[in-house]
Amino acid sequence: MSISFWQDDTQPGDVVTADVIIVGAGISGASAAWWLKDAGLKVVVLDKGDICAGASGKNAGFITCGSVEHFNRQMERMGVEDALTLWKMSQDNIDLIEELLVEDGLECDFARKGTYSLAGTERELVELKETCDTLVGLGVKVEWVEREQVARDLRAEHFTGGVLYQDDGEVHPVKLVRGILERSGARFFPNHEVHDITSTGDTVTVKTQRATFEGTLCVLATNGYSHHVHSWFRDKIYPTRGQIIVTEPVAPFLPAPCYANFVLDYFRQLPDGRVLIGGFRQLEKETEVGTADEPSLVIHEALETFLHKHFPHLRGVKIDYRWAGIMGFSVDGLPMIGALPGQQNVFFLGGYTAHGIGWGFKAGQLLSKAILEGEQPPIISARRLH
Ligand SMILES: Cc1cc2nc3c(=O)[nH]c(=O)nc-3n(C[C@H](O)[C@H](O)[C@H](O)COP(=O)(O)OP(=O)(O)OC[C@H]3O[C@@H](n4cnc5c(N)ncnc54)[C@H](O)[C@@H]3O)c2cc1C
Repeated sequence: MSISFWQDDTQPGDVVTADVIIVGAGISGASAAWWLKDAGLKVVVLDKGDICAGASGKNAGFITCGSVEHFNRQMERMGVEDALTLWKMSQDNIDLIEELLVEDGLECDFARKGTYSLAGTERELVELKETCDTLVGLGVKVEWVEREQVARDLRAEHFTGGVLYQDDGEVHPVKLVRGILERSGARFFPNHEVHDITSTGDTVTVKTQRATFEGTLCVLATNGYSHHVHSWFRDKIYPTRGQIIVTEPVAPFLPAPCYANFVLDYFRQLPDGRVLIGGFRQLEKETEVGTADEPSLVIHEALETFLHKHFPHLRGVKIDYRWAGIMGFSVDGLPMIGALPGQQNVFFLGGYTAHGIGWGFKAGQLLSKAILEGEQPPIISARRLH
């Protein structure tokens, strides 16, 4: 993309100084700016495009607790204690968004009506029941939903039952991220693609095509694009494409956002009545990697088939939007917060594996604690991958 003189708020050769230079203006970069500015630092944020140019502008706006897997699987993998710690950290994410942003007047279509996870097979039904019973036993607010309730309350067919996670929510992700960045007070430089980062002990120099940014610290909030910025990410965060369709507005019928098929597919009704459906990257695993964010025919057909199968009353509605976005999948499915090995003033956050709206604001807080207090976050510290 070419940049005109009018779009450039730096001059060729400019040197901009700050305490912290954040690369990437999605939920991660905006949240890191918010928490670091809160600590009194001078922060600038750069992006190769505009705000929300990456996944933060392309997602479905679910704010969920937990991770990419059903709780029973997470528990089997890491033990109940760690799985619950992980759950509570992500629950803190939505609590913090509600308390510090929404209750402070940030308008971002935030609603906290829970999210459903629905089973389409007997196998998933068993896992979801186990997950539900375990979470109830751990004091988490969840509710079991029978097949008939799904058909009646959600008007969704071919699901065998599911769980309602009562603490979850939904949001307009671009309004949220814009609000966080604006409120951070950080100076934002769009259209600055970073091509070089040099860290020399106490200073970091970040170069874009037109300016140089000098600071004490750099934060990479580049998620699925991180391997373009530093090779360390090549086998740690994999760019993975996600795709979505959105219908024309229809009468309200869906009480809360829903996941299906082991969290791979999802749908929600937007405040103006449109129905959003996403997922199905499992159909084309080999093409759904990389940073090309073009929608693909096979997946878009599958999304429409899903719409017609589960919501026969919506047959014939028009599809008004189709898009694709690039997520950052970490090697173990968990977020990553830390510093680059051997470069203790170049930090990063990301790797949320399709759940960055459910993690990003909290991740900014955890990153700022790691930077300012040297406190490593439990479980999701990137030290596990060094
Ligand atoms: C289709 C889809 C549906 C999703 N649904 C949900 C959902 O419902 N709930 C949820 O929690 N998560 C969801 N996600 C995932 C979520 O969107 C991401 O986890 C989250 O947005 C990641 O935010 P981020 O700020 O880390 O990265 P991004 O938003 O991708 O931001 C990275 C930024 O870095 C910039 N950048 C990259 N390289 C450079 C460079 N060299 N120089 C300067 N800037 C650079 C990019 O332009 C971009 O703006 C979904 C994602 C997709 C694609």
